[in-house]
Amino acid sequence: MTAQSAMKIENANYERVILAIERLTVSNPKYCQCMRCRLDVTAIALNSLPAKYFIAPSPMDIEEIASPLLMVEASVLHALERVLGHPHHEKPAHKKLTDDIKKSLEKTKEKNME
Ligand SMILES: [Zn+2]
Repeated sequence: MTAQSAMKIENANYERVILAIERLTVSNPKYCQCMRCRLDVTAIALNSLPAKYFIAPSPMDIEEIASPLLMVEASVLHALERVLGHPHHEKPAHKKLTDDIKKSLEKTKEKNME
């Protein structure tokens, strides 16, 4: 493998966005932690931040290329709220309620059978 083929384009904000999602979802259980929602939040946040692509490996310090932490967190928070309002799956609270109703219906059926 040549040195050039080992090079790739990376986004300096990627790691920061991942870490911010981790931090913000752990401290706030209202945000869904499923893979689909995380990917949506990652894409939305990265799209809303300035493009910070660079060729890796780079002699430059990623910390210097990346957007400021507060800016990354603000974008992630905005993305989390957007995905919370419009998840690409049934809303968890709604799903749980439906499951609970199904379960109690099944129990009622079983009782009637006895
Ligand atoms: Zn989800």
